[in-house]
Amino acid sequence: NPQHLHSFLNSLNEAQHKAVLHEPAAPLQILAGPGSGKTKVLTSRIAYLILHHSIPASSICAVTFTNKAATEMQERLCKLIGKQRTSAVRMGTFHALCALFLRKFSKVVGIEGNFTVCDHDESKKIIAGLLKPYKDFLASKDISLKDGTVLSYISRAKAKGTTAKEFIAEHKKANNDRRSSDFDPQDDIQRVVGNIYQDYEKALRRSNSLDFDDLLLFGVKLFTEHPPATSWCRHVLVDEFQDTNVTQYELMRAIAAPTKGCVTVVGDPDQSIYGWRSAEVGNLAKMRKDFTGTEQIFLEENYRSTGAILKASLAIVSQDKSRIPKTLLTSHPLGTIPVLRSFPSEQAEANFIAVEIKRLVASMGGVLRWGDFAILLRFSALSRAIESALQKEAIPSAVLGGHKFFERQEIKDILAYLQLVDNPSFVPALTRAINIPSRAIGEKSIEALIARADKTKMSPLDVIERIYDSHQPDIKPAVKHKVGPFVKTVRALRKLATEGTSPPDLIQRLLALIQYEDHLKKTQPEWESRWENVQELITFASEVEHDVNLVDVDTNADPSSSDTPLRLFLQASMLSSEGDNQSEEDSKEKVTISTCHAAKGLEWPVVIIPAVEQGTFPFYRTDDVQEERRLLYVACTRAQTLLYLSHVSKRKVGGETKTKEISEFVASATKEHSGIFTLRTPQLPPPARAVVTRVLGRPDAPEAEVLRRVAEFRKTTRYLDSADDAVGQSEVLYHPALGMGGNARPTATFVS
Ligand code: ATP
Ligand code: MG
Repeated sequence: NPQHLHSFLNSLNEAQHKAVLHEPAAPLQILAGPGSGKTKVLTSRIAYLILHHSIPASSICAVTFTNKAATEMQERLCKLIGKQRTSAVRMGTFHALCALFLRKFSKVVGIEGNFTVCDHDESKKIIAGLLKPYKDFLASKDISLKDGTVLSYISRAKAKGTTAKEFIAEHKKANNDRRSSDFDPQDDIQRVVGNIYQDYEKALRRSNSLDFDDLLLFGVKLFTEHPPATSWCRHVLVDEFQDTNVTQYELMRAIAAPTKGCVTVVGDPDQSIYGWRSAEVGNLAKMRKDFTGTEQIFLEENYRSTGAILKASLAIVSQDKSRIPKTLLTSHPLGTIPVLRSFPSEQAEANFIAVEIKRLVASMGGVLRWGDFAILLRFSALSRAIESALQKEAIPSAVLGGHKFFERQEIKDILAYLQLVDNPSFVPALTRAINIPSRAIGEKSIEALIARADKTKMSPLDVIERIYDSHQPDIKPAVKHKVGPFVKTVRALRKLATEGTSPPDLIQRLLALIQYEDHLKKTQPEWESRWENVQELITFASEVEHDVNLVDVDTNADPSSSDTPLRLFLQASMLSSEGDNQSEEDSKEKVTISTCHAAKGLEWPVVIIPAVEQGTFPFYRTDDVQEERRLLYVACTRAQTLLYLSHVSKRKVGGETKTKEISEFVASATKEHSGIFTLRTPQLPPPARAVVTRVLGRPDAPEAEVLRRVAEFRKTTRYLDSADDAVGQSEVLYHPALGMGGNARPTATFVS
């Protein structure tokens, strides 16, 4: 529909327009500050490639950083090109894309199609086991080495593409180069980590399993060595490119190989906040070298925030004197000056936040709602005081990427059984499921089982089943009796799965077989909410079932590694656990609590950032102070209309009360630019009554949200799907200082 195309192109400014229309075959970098419409341009470009250049949706690959960002992009795209075409676009995180294609082409990289994705929790457990033999050695050297630390060493090595062998070799070389008189505890750590790295890899392979880093590494191998895995691709687009690491860059290059330079990336060096996870801002320069003729387009207008918010944010980030200055303007009014407050304790701070949110919602008469607020934290442990203050004021809140659903005990219990049915070699699932409900099978017995499995080259599950079936005299009847119910349960599930029972039904049957509700009642004080979560898992499973045809890709794949519904369900649940699942329903009616990292790319009308203190901003353990400054900048620039920063003079940290000082980032910014913050909380007059007389623009972008709010506010059940529908008929409340519902630029004209 040419008119449709015309109307969405019309909503772009000149530079954005140029970026969307840029010759598809010429590699492109779009570099710009926060809120300048980078993601909007990326989405529009996808639509333009499909609608104007007739590139099939299924030959476009769009990479986002988080699942939430992928969902958001999907929603935006849906409005432009419809649901069917949107779902054909290969869109998701690097991890999700790799998992999808590794299933299809598993044999090519030497793994089984029924591999299980091992999450951080399980990885840590494997490592804890491998660390045990080194305990005495480390203690004798007075070195404390935790499973999580070892995992992050390994993870960093993998992010650079360093194998265990290379890791050990590098360490040996460094050791030889050094004079022998230098004593260095790092030396012992490196050696232990190297050995564990090697064993960890073995453990994963034995379990027929890949961890999150492996997904990327095996993905690179697949995409570089096996052309059929990428031959479908005609254009690659990457959002938040500044935060890609070496491996992710290699992935992009490999997927893009058949496109001969049809690559579009967007990014902002000022928002690079993943250096600690080996991200390389240098990838921008690398891309210009690898893709000859890469052009750059800069966007300079910020559409998200008011002038005052932008001014304060820029004052903070520009204190980094090594930064390359950039133009970032807004045509929005100056708006309300951001608030900076100090409190005696974290309780006082938390109470202020709760009371202030309540006050704003009450005084804005429906223009601001709970879902318009976000509280952004440097690290999630800071949320405890705030969560309880919100609770006391009866303010609903949801933690974004916080208590991760798929990492809950009860969810993992259920998944473990299903993983075992799909992949009998997956040891972490076996060690968990075997004692759910408790069957008093001890750690020693399990270790013996695994050892026996290794010796006989069978899966541990096979070994257990043999024990159960065998009539050998060396197996004690007591042992057989203990494993009996477990073996029976797994066999029953396996039978159901091969008969084609759907994942939701499989879960229901499993719950009955192991009497899981009783198990929770007996062992968990808060069993009811856990049981609720299990019900939620069933809902999730039925939603995945619905989406199955969306995930299916049409490639000349290895037919033996077919996607069973169970496997698709397991894959979807493992990839959601990657960090950031919050359902739409959740976010609309609740105050969002999130880490600053997880808030990247998102926006809210009101943003509150507590604990802007030394030790928090910058974080006391950081190696890179400028990255911490950029993180605060990212957090501030999530705000559309109101921004609050606060700090306390005393805070309890790990049971100890510590004196705190205001963050140097804010202190230096206010010293150089006076008046960017105020102590006074905004006193906004109550909203005005108005009638919509005219609506500018199209039905498909921010103003559609305005209109939805109009409809919702008037409690009409029908959403207005055309802008013109609103004219004349909608008497609404709106607030000139906030725009409509905080959307900074009301494109509807109102008369009082
Ligand atoms: P970030 O760096 O934080 O990821 P971004 O550059 O990706 O930001 P977007 O999220 O694409 O920015 O856009 C920010 C907001 O500005 C969105 O609400 C978007 O709809 C709006 N916006 C972008 N461009 C325009 C435009 N030309 N007209 C009106 N609104 C726009
Ligand atoms: Mg963005």
